[in-house]
This record gives sequence, C-alpha cells and structure tokens, in this order.
Amino acid sequence: DPQSLLKPHADVAQKVHYPPANDRVRERATFVTLARNSDLWSLVPSIRHVEDRFNRRFHYDWVFLNDKPFDQEFIRVTSALVSGTAKYGVIPSEHWSVPDWIDQDRAAEARSQMVQDQVIYGDSVPYRHMCRFESGFFFQHELLADYEFYWRVEPDIRLFCDIHYDVFRFMKLNNKKYGFILSLSEYEKTIPTLWATTKQFMHKFPQYVHKNNLLDFVSDDQGESYNMCHFWSNFEVGSLDFWRGDAYQAYFEYLDRAGGFFYERWGDAPVHSIAASLFLDKSELHFFDGFGYYHPDFYACPVEEDIRIQNQCTCNIADDHTWFEYYFCTRKYFQAQRLALPPGVKPA
Ligand code: GDP
Ligand code: MN
Repeated sequence: DPQSLLKPHADVAQKVHYPPANDRVRERATFVTLARNSDLWSLVPSIRHVEDRFNRRFHYDWVFLNDKPFDQEFIRVTSALVSGTAKYGVIPSEHWSVPDWIDQDRAAEARSQMVQDQVIYGDSVPYRHMCRFESGFFFQHELLADYEFYWRVEPDIRLFCDIHYDVFRFMKLNNKKYGFILSLSEYEKTIPTLWATTKQFMHKFPQYVHKNNLLDFVSDDQGESYNMCHFWSNFEVGSLDFWRGDAYQAYFEYLDRAGGFFYERWGDAPVHSIAASLFLDKSELHFFDGFGYYHPDFYACPVEEDIRIQNQCTCNIADDHTWFEYYFCTRKYFQAQRLALPPGVKPA
C-alpha cells in the first residue's frame, strides 16, 4: 500500500499524501508526447521505462502528437508498448506556423545572429514551432479535450525508480497543478526580452498574478529581473485546465503577439515556469522526489538511499544533478517555498 511507503523527506516537507492502493478511482489523465516519425526509436525506450516503472499498474492513455501524420510503423510499435489506449493526432497548421503579424525578415535575421552567437537550435524554425506549440497549443488539441491532467514524455528519457502510487490521483488529492523533477538555468540569449514582456503583462493584467505566488523562484530581486531558473519541461505532470484558464491564455496571447518565439527563441520551459510561478498559488506546485529521471544530459537520482532501495532505483547517486549549486535551481525552489533541504543534501 503506497500509504505505508517510506516517503522521501521532500514529500514529508511538502505535506503531501499518497492515494491508497485500494483506491480504484482513475483521473481523467493521459501521457502526451510530441514526436516526429523519425523519433520512433529514441521514443521506444522512453515509453518502455514509463510503462515498466509506472503505467503497467495504472493503464493511463497516451496521446501522440505530430505536425505530420504518424506512419504505420510508428503507430504499430508505440501502441504495442502502451498499456492504456494510444491515440494519434495531427497538429492543426495554425498551431505550427508563423503568424501573420511576424516580420519574417526580422525573424531570419535573428536566426543568423543566433548562429553567430552559437545558440543551441538558434537557426531552427521547426524548433521554434515546437516551443510555441508546447507553450501555447498542446492543451488545446482535440485529443486532449476530455482530460484534466497530463504527463509529458520525450524521446531519450529514463525513469530509474518504481513509482508505487497513482501520480495523477496524487495531483488531484493534493490540489497540485504543476509538478517537476529537475530545474535549471536558461541561456539568456534565447530570451533577452521575455522578462520585460512579462513585466508589461503583469502591469497590464495585475489581476492574473496570484497573491500567494512563487515569484522568488524566478526572480532574486522581487521581480525586477529574471534569474533564468526554470522547470525542465521535458518532464511535466500538470493540470491542462491551468493552461486553458484565463490567466495563462492571456499571458500566452500577449507573448505570442510580442513575437519572441520567432525573433528570439523563447522556450516552453521558461514560459511555463514563469507562468506557474506567477499565476498559481505556490502550494499548487510540486517537486517530485523518488522517481529518478534522465533526459540528455542531466540526471535526477533520489538523494536518500532508503528511498532508492525501496523504489528499486537503477540510478547512481553520483550522477545526480538535482542539488548542484551551479546552473541548477532546485535549491532556490526549496528556498522560495521555505522548505528544509532533505538530509544528505549539503547546505549551500
Ligand atoms: P530538446 O529536448 O530541447 O533538445 O528538444 P527535442 O528535440 O527533444 O524536442 C522536444 C520535443 O519535441 C520532443 O518530444 C521531440 O520529439 C519533439 N519535436 C521536436 N521537433 C519536432 C518537430 O519538428 N516535429 C515534431 N512533430 N516534433 C518535434
Ligand atoms: Mn528532448
């Protein structure tokens, strides 16, 4: 029974409780993966890990989205691996194209400047569509309409530990809206005007900024500047209704009009993270511990050995980046939430 499990210290500090094993209730929830047909063989091990460590006990659905139709091999192979219902959708072209208010010459110029500045994906137009889609549109896809929660999975990820409780039910019972595992620093060159645009938005729409927000996670000076901290959004478990709500809809629309998805290279990670930190009650955010996670090139491995043993983790604690002081942000998250660091984590 998950309720008799040893809890990671972080979950005790966060005062969360796990749904019981005999709780047969399932949430309206799904995995969601954006992928190309060519991503198939880097996605296959990701699905297998998520199924083996979690979904084989819960059988949640899995929605696959693509800007082009999935081919038959992709559908055959992935649907054989998913223990819930697998669904395949094409993204509407309005959600994967350059809006008419964007100056294409200015966007092209910005891309060549980024190549000179050696910004990763700096010259890529598809990458920008991906970031804009994950920021503003995935939760509007018709295949996600009936769901309340989602868990994002990308190619090349690993889950290192057994997850004994229903993560979606956990979100519901603890009133969580956004959960993450790793958090780190953004390259400033991808988002030079994102914070200035966000400040304009907050000035224009102060009603959307939550009174009990987590601004201190994204700003070290009460909102004057952005500290580059963001949740690493290749893993997200979240509320679709939060993204569909008035605050985020107004925010995304405002950012999209400003053009930074094309004139710069705004990522969905800083966009989601800033929004979650400003528009949610800070109690609605959650740091997931005990899972063990990898996406190139960073690892999370639970710091407590008894948790690693209980959850049959296959990660080496020496690889863990969660608590690094340089470049990673989860210490700042704990500070902003006024949570005590787990035992075993060295104080800064
Ligand atoms: P990174 O994690 O930032 O290095 O970016 P990825 O290459 O992993 O892309 C992020 C997610 O978007 C992954 O799930 C990819 O499969 C997906 N993705 C990236 N580019 C495209 C694209 O052009 N088309 C589609 N359909 N999916 C894409
Ligand atoms: Mn990725």
